[in-house]
Order: sequence, then structure tokens, then C-alpha cells
Amino acid sequence: MSAIAKGVRKAKSRFGGRLEPFFRLNLVLYEGRSDMLTVTSVETIEAYPRVREHGAALDGAARACEAVSRIFDDGDPHEGVYHLLANQLALIDRDVTRAGRANSLAFRLKLLLAAGFAPHLAGCASCGDREHLVGFSGAAGGVVCGSCEANAFPLDEDAHAFMVAALGRPLAETPDAPPLALAQAERAIIDTLEHHAHLRLRPVSTR
Ligand SMILES: [Zn+2]
Repeated sequence: MSAIAKGVRKAKSRFGGRLEPFFRLNLVLYEGRSDMLTVTSVETIEAYPRVREHGAALDGAARACEAVSRIFDDGDPHEGVYHLLANQLALIDRDVTRAGRANSLAFRLKLLLAAGFAPHLAGCASCGDREHLVGFSGAAGGVVCGSCEANAFPLDEDAHAFMVAALGRPLAETPDAPPLALAQAERAIIDTLEHHAHLRLRPVSTR
């Protein structure tokens, strides 16, 4: 939703310093005649202060918020996604090293799941074979076997295992994986979004 906060730049603004990026707020919004809602009161729930003290944390938080707003741009409430985003911001705030690549990818995988685009990982997305899974195809919607790998790119066992673990475990328990596996997992996420949502997100940080 978009809303305007009138007079927010004045030194004595009643909104104080609360309307800042990544703040979690209770807002009262007024729906007038224009398309834009007007903010009438603001109460801070959580400010995540450490997110603003580190470049990598800021970057991680910005990418998390951007991914949510790009994938869920319909203005409908998504309670699960809201809590997932709050959880991600809290994790980054608690430990800025969390803003790394594995965690950002796990967050995006969970967003795919919430949006109904979770990649098929248990067996070949084309024929159902549970062995010889060697690639990933956004068009097929998941991992594919050696016989179905047309239009697929290679996906190593490490990348497959990372995606299964990242989807199955809480965000705070995201496993790490070798850089090549993370790069392949990221490509799988990008391919899935391009095929099913027709959108391309900025790459996650490569730190
Ligand atoms: Zn197959």
C-alpha cells in the first residue's frame, strides 16, 4: 500500500524519526478522495536499529523488502509473508553476518513457497523419477532427471540439498553451502520466478 505522511520533514513533525526504512510500525491510515492513503498516527513496534549500522545488513534488509514487494504486489494481506519478513529483519538485526547469501536465498525460497511457486524437489518435475536428478528447469518447475534435462541447467547434489534444507528448516537454521551450490540455487530461484511470475529480482549479495 502507498501512503503519504504530511509534514514529515518538519523538525517538529509528530511522526518524529519513526517513518524510516525497515521500521515495523502500527499505522493509522486515512482513506480520502485521492488514491494515496494519509498517515494519521505512527507507533513503533520494532526499529531494528543495528540494520542501519552495517552496509551489508542494510543491503540484505533492502533486498528482502524488495523481494516481498515485487512478488506480492497485489495489496492483499499475506500474514505468513509479513511474519517471514519480520523474522528475516530480526535475524539480520540480531546478527549482521546473517545478511549473507545462504540466508537471503533461503528467504527467497520461502517466499516462493508462500506465493505457490515452490520448486518441486522430491523427484524429477517432468517424469517423477527419484534418482539421477542432475538439473533444474524453471519451465518444468523443479529438479529434473538425466532423461528430462532439455532446457535445464546442471544442479549439483550440494545445491539440491541446500534447497531442500532451506525450505524445510526455520530461517534461523539455514545451512551454509559451497559458493557454487549457492550460485546454482540462486539460478533455480531466478528461473522459477521468470517462468511463473515473469519477474526478475536483483541478485542477492555475493558476500
Ligand atoms: Zn525425468
